[in-house]
Amino acid sequence: AKSRDGRTYAFYTDALTRDARARIQLVANLRRALTEHEFTVHYQPIVRLEDQTIVGAEALVRWITPEGEMIGPDRFIPVAEETGLIVPLGDFVLAAACTQMARWRKAGLPCAFVAVNISAGQLSATDICAKTEAALAASGVPADSIEFEITESMLFGADSGAESKLKRITELGVRIAIDDFGTGYSSLAYLKRFPISRLKIDKSFVDDLPMSVVDGELVRAMIDMGRALHIEVLAEGVEDAGQMAFLAANGCTYGQGFFWSRPLPPERFEALFSNASQI
Ligand code: C2E
Ligand code: CA
Ligand code: CA
Ligand code: CA
Repeated sequence: AKSRDGRTYAFYTDALTRDARARIQLVANLRRALTEHEFTVHYQPIVRLEDQTIVGAEALVRWITPEGEMIGPDRFIPVAEETGLIVPLGDFVLAAACTQMARWRKAGLPCAFVAVNISAGQLSATDICAKTEAALAASGVPADSIEFEITESMLFGADSGAESKLKRITELGVRIAIDDFGTGYSSLAYLKRFPISRLKIDKSFVDDLPMSVVDGELVRAMIDMGRALHIEVLAEGVEDAGQMAFLAANGCTYGQGFFWSRPLPPERFEALFSNASQI
């Protein structure tokens, strides 16, 4: 109900102004962070369950403020998406991941691929294909050592422009993973239209394993579907041995989660390989 009370109204607009101001401040800070190179990329291991070895990494962006505070992507990716800043930010993450991959290959680190999160706004930007080619060429890494993580909604809602871009990207050799699989749209028709390499089962299905019978059945169905379609299946958000054992016993091939490691700065990620007992 609308109040005729002047005070209530004044309070309400003050709150709006406060939110709007905070948002404008955040956008300004994000712009500054881009030009001042305050963003950095951490890497979380992706593990093959069969032998518990690290086979790849997911690149996850972090913002280190001038005050030294580390801000997680959940606090700025949505605003970056709304303002279009996701395009330069995404360019940075892709270039950083390719450069990092090139260093690891040169050092002989047995990390086969790096996965990079791609937002819808990046896919609709016209030059994503050219940028991908440029990032590959500049770093010299093979295209199949880079994986793009996209969500189901991006494929479900893909117009012909997005569809042809994704096809071109896969023709370059870049692999496509479906992120947060199972949380998006109920239609699976996109699995026929796009060459998908990997399904990443969302953490919400993994959380209550092995106790939840329903989640267990859903996860098994996703694993079986992946196997039938020759799509690799990875479980996200694995935090304990019970979840890991359920996934391994039911034929899931890859896992990612705090059970093995949190996302780490590059030098700490590298250390995981010299200290195999940590994994
Ligand atoms: P996501 O792509 O689903 O990434 C996985 C998130 O789950 C990461 O959070 C990771 O730290 C967290 N995680 C991994 N294992 C576990 C676990 O066992 N338990 C728990 N509780 N969490 C786990 P993070 O790094 O805060 O990223 C959050 C989201 O921000 C990402 O979700 C992704 O959607 C987005 N994001 C991160 N980096 C980028 C980027 O470079 N570009 C874009 N467009 N989005 C990004
Ligand atoms: Ca992801
Ligand atoms: Ca995910
Ligand atoms: Ca997510």
